[in-house]
Amino acid sequence: MRLRFAPSPTGYVHVGNARTALFNFLHAKKNGGKLILRIEDTDVERSTKEYERGLIEDFKWLGIEWDEGPDTGGDYGPYRQSERLELYTKVAHKLLEEGKAYYCFCTPEELERERKEALSKGLPPKYSGKCRNIPPEEAKRRVESGEKAVIRFKMPEDKDFYYDDIIRGRISFDLSLFGDFVILRSNGLPAYNFAVVVDDHYMEVDFVIRGEDHISNTPKQIKIYEAMGWTPPKFGHLSMVLGPDGSPLSKRHGATSLNQFKGMGYLPEALLNYLAMLGWAPPEDREILSKEELIELFDITKVSKSGAVFDYNKLNWVNRKHIATLDTKEIIKRAEEFLVSEGYFDSLDELDEKTLNWLILAVDSVKTNIVTLKDVPMEIEIFFKYDYSEDAFDELKREGGEKMLSLMKDFFKEIDNISINDIYSFINEAKKQGLKGKMLFHPMRIIFTGRGSGVELDKFLDIMTKADAVKLKKSPLSLKERISEAEKKITE
Ligand code: GLU
Repeated sequence: MRLRFAPSPTGYVHVGNARTALFNFLHAKKNGGKLILRIEDTDVERSTKEYERGLIEDFKWLGIEWDEGPDTGGDYGPYRQSERLELYTKVAHKLLEEGKAYYCFCTPEELERERKEALSKGLPPKYSGKCRNIPPEEAKRRVESGEKAVIRFKMPEDKDFYYDDIIRGRISFDLSLFGDFVILRSNGLPAYNFAVVVDDHYMEVDFVIRGEDHISNTPKQIKIYEAMGWTPPKFGHLSMVLGPDGSPLSKRHGATSLNQFKGMGYLPEALLNYLAMLGWAPPEDREILSKEELIELFDITKVSKSGAVFDYNKLNWVNRKHIATLDTKEIIKRAEEFLVSEGYFDSLDELDEKTLNWLILAVDSVKTNIVTLKDVPMEIEIFFKYDYSEDAFDELKREGGEKMLSLMKDFFKEIDNISINDIYSFINEAKKQGLKGKMLFHPMRIIFTGRGSGVELDKFLDIMTKADAVKLKKSPLSLKERISEAEKKITE
């Protein structure tokens, strides 16, 4: 089995195209087939090398692996359409010779006039077939004398044509509505419907999984296969990826491209997991799955034909679950660029063991709050600044927190680096003064953390009393400094 995905390098990879690539990948892997990456870059004005590099990088980041492609090579190359122009010309001329295609000299203005006329009469805008009747010898002479011409395919007019779609079942068409379409432009570049057939044939692709926007192209493609005496592949068309309002997922709904999700700190394995569930449900309601599990369970025939709504909240949930399965050191590694950009360090490599171990403790204490990797630097901010809440201080004042505060101030006056033993001694002292239970620990947590909830106090104190050895570009805010911050806040 040979499959392919065929992006055009005209922009960043939309998650809809990523899902198409993923379903091809899962189906190929599941069946021991080969996956091809083909670059459809015949739209010379909009295609760029940068986008090509970007899409290769982004698909790799997501975890899609292909066996053949412009970067990996293979026996069926070249894998860029722009490098296969001779082949398209050869096939188009074969169709010309066999009378299955013809030169068309109609100008864009003429075609536009025809189109408008048809529309005004309420007819489908299809090419009139005007140049079909030019004798081939005459057409050839005109082309040789330098007249501009496209090559059009003589589209058969079967009224009850159908094909069986792997995902959607039988789809019928009235081909008399289609008209003869262009396969080779006057500048020698192939039209999509033609290039894709030539490539899929010569690359021996036998299963095409792509977006539903190509359903109406499928009859044209099948007819080219038939005209050439080639066997068409099987086709399966995936539904669109929709935004929460039911329209195609676009920028106005939020992030849409792989590189945006990467930049927002999503794990590739979580995004891959989520994309696989857009239109397909793994058996037994399983939702958190590794790539290997997805390959094992995937079934293209169970993919839904109705539109799949992209649910950002669900993606967050999936991402969170995947983060929870990583060990904390790995989370820090993955979040490196975000920690760097928030000014914690310049690179993870430069951290000494003590600092790294402390960071692991810190991140571990907030692990359950992390939705995306971008949250890592935000969540550990509590150790670096006095992130107080007004409500907590109102509460502190109401509950007689001043007494606790002055006790703490006195007790820690001579101690610069408060150790965990100092904290224990203080607790004993406070108890002697009649402060215990909630009267003791809750005010203490507000004074040290600035907040009435969040990380548990004993974890927080454990982390803070180990912070003196930490060498980062940002300094943790010491317990001593926290007492002064609380005092400032309470006397406001
Ligand atoms: N380049 C086409 C696209 O991005 C590929 C369509 C196909 O798979 O045939 O939509």
